[in-house]
Amino acid sequence: MNQENTYQPIFGSTEASENVILHKLRQHPVDATLAYRLVKDQLIDEGNARQNMATFCQTYMEPEAQKLMAETFEKNAIDKSEYPSTAAIEEACVNIIGDLWNVPDSKKMIGTSTVGSSEACMLGGMAMKFKWRKEAEARGIDLNKQKPNLIISSGYQVCWEKFCVYWDIEMRTVPMDDTHMSIDVDRVMDYVDEYTIGIVGILGITYTGKYDDIKALNDKVEAFNQETGRELGIHVDGASGAMFAPFVFPDLEWDFRLKNVVSINTSGHKYGLVYPGVGWILWRDRHFLPEELIFNVSYLGGEMPTMAINFSRSASQILGQYYNFYRYGFEGYRAIHLRTQKVAMKIAKAIESFGIFEIYNDGENLPIVCYRLKDNVDVKWNLYDLADRLQMKGWQVPAYPLPEDLDNIEIQRFVCRGDFGMNMADALIEDIRTAIGELDKANVSMHANEAPHSQGFTH
Ligand SMILES: *Cc1c(COP(=O)(O)O)cnc(C)c1O
Repeated sequence: MNQENTYQPIFGSTEASENVILHKLRQHPVDATLAYRLVKDQLIDEGNARQNMATFCQTYMEPEAQKLMAETFEKNAIDKSEYPSTAAIEEACVNIIGDLWNVPDSKKMIGTSTVGSSEACMLGGMAMKFKWRKEAEARGIDLNKQKPNLIISSGYQVCWEKFCVYWDIEMRTVPMDDTHMSIDVDRVMDYVDEYTIGIVGILGITYTGKYDDIKALNDKVEAFNQETGRELGIHVDGASGAMFAPFVFPDLEWDFRLKNVVSINTSGHKYGLVYPGVGWILWRDRHFLPEELIFNVSYLGGEMPTMAINFSRSASQILGQYYNFYRYGFEGYRAIHLRTQKVAMKIAKAIESFGIFEIYNDGENLPIVCYRLKDNVDVKWNLYDLADRLQMKGWQVPAYPLPEDLDNIEIQRFVCRGDFGMNMADALIEDIRTAIGELDKANVSMHANEAPHSQGFTH
């Protein structure tokens, strides 16, 4: 190391005059202060995460939470024996979440943390596949005749496509249309056959924030199971809603109160209010998680079951989740979520008042505002142009087409999060008003002939 580096001005250093993005390791070390500054500066044009209206993922945690997490980066969540208190805290999170989701018998329940909902959905899907296979064999079904299938609405998040591709499952999508902006409960059972491993209900469709009617779905599945003697189950993908609904709509029945809901996942880093990445999956009863998927690691001289796909990862996110649970309690989460909901509904009202937009989600069920340009409005710009204008004020706002069967409709979505306060919302509304005024006066539309494009909206 060049000792002189410490004394030279950062921006007068040799390193500051070189490219920071390397393609191979440099031969010699760089001073730590320089390295910090130059790498950090490399991210300077990325925009302000808190103005990123595209993401469900948490962009703020309290300084105490950050401190706790930074001080526990080195703890490996899989080393249950070495970090038994961390393991006990993970268990505590599972118990707290099980209670939030009204699990009928906490002794029978089993659950785990994951990297996010994607890993959790993989586990939920695999459990359904293994269980189905055992039952199909017992029923004498020819397992080689066709692929097993999974049923989900066309508003699925991409992790389900991954699940089906990775584990060779046919994904049967129930189309959404103008009158069914969530799973069409009257048609869903038409897709079920002997090879169906399960049905996924979505609590918070990523595109629009709408909830599938899990209760109605449960009734349909119950009637089917009664008639056929099968044990077809529902997995609820509650990536966003499963950490929102329990606090804001405690009376809404979508969870383990419904008999056929066998497993639920959520993203701790969405409305669980933790930085990415942490997710959770719980099964109502071990009966729904086939033994083959459980592996044991050593824990306090004994063994502890684990079912994650990942092995090593930092426990700091789990501890961040626990910090939030411990610090906020039920009322704290409820207060944050109710405020976020109020903010979203205010934005939706403001958008509606412009008269040119049709609202698809008004922020009530999830604090997500989602809208399109009305069909016959006389404007010479589109939602992509509006997104560009808003970006000038630092707002990152996606515009994208809806999924299959509704893909002629382009929408724009604002995801409101806990750190998005009323004042920020007022600023955003003013910026939208200004942007529309500017676009109306502009005579060049940037995207007139451009194919619809989208930017990261699926998270
Ligand atoms: C975000 C999301 C996922 C994926 O979650 P990650 O935690 O980002 O892996 C899955 N399903 C739905 C409905 C989502 O909104």
